[in-house]
Amino acid sequence: MKKVSVECRNIRLSYGKTEVLKDISLVVEPGEFFALLGPSGSGKSTLLRLIAGFNQQNSGQLLVDGRDIGSVPPHKRNIGMVFQSYALWPHMTVWDNVAFGLVERKVRSAELKTRVAAALELVGLSQYAKRRPNELSGGQQQRVALARTIVIEPQVLLLDEPLSNLDRNLRVQMRQELLSLQRRLGITTIFVTHDQEEAMTTADRMAVLDQGIVQQVGSPSNLFDFPCNRFVANFVGTMN
Ligand code: ADP
Ligand code: MG
Repeated sequence: MKKVSVECRNIRLSYGKTEVLKDISLVVEPGEFFALLGPSGSGKSTLLRLIAGFNQQNSGQLLVDGRDIGSVPPHKRNIGMVFQSYALWPHMTVWDNVAFGLVERKVRSAELKTRVAAALELVGLSQYAKRRPNELSGGQQQRVALARTIVIEPQVLLLDEPLSNLDRNLRVQMRQELLSLQRRLGITTIFVTHDQEEAMTTADRMAVLDQGIVQQVGSPSNLFDFPCNRFVANFVGTMN
């Protein structure tokens, strides 16, 4: 699969009169695991939803693989998003949850079976195919949400605080699983979190967002050693 870049150029977005994204510019390199770190309300989900096509910017450009995709509808963007709440269908089995996107895309049954089985295998849930979401642990539900997204083979993976519903031990374990899965797939990934440790321990590079403004972009060690302002220093832990 081709590795693609994601670029935001001077993106602005307002809800009514409130500007929530203020001139966002950043480049996520092909195949990168990129963390978007910021406190609650800083605009992380808004930016992710914009990349997925569920929000429309007021100005600025969004480029994937160098192409402006501003007018491409969400289902044609080849971008997969995992929501904080997982949004699994409770009445459907794990298998059917994962297969859903392929059914929607009219993938023929032989290929569908192969791809669903492979996705479940990747997240270690092959034995759970017949269960329903409420018969799974939080971590397992999270894996179903992940399988359901990667089965459509997106070029870009967007993860909106995917681990925030899990307890701490599981979060640390799933963080490693997520990273190893991303490495195997080589898929460009934007990982949203408000947990600085989560960002610092996983990301190739990261952006710190505050009040709709990108404060700094760089590698975790770069931000830790050379925070550009007090906010970044506080937030990534340099001053703790
Ligand atoms: P984060 O994900 O970083 O917590 P959000 O992107 O969800 O932040 O929200 C950024 C700001 O935009 C917040 O002040 C939030 O209240 C506001 N906001 C988010 N969604 C909407 C919406 N649909 N309508 C109006 N305001 C919104
Ligand atoms: Mg959010």
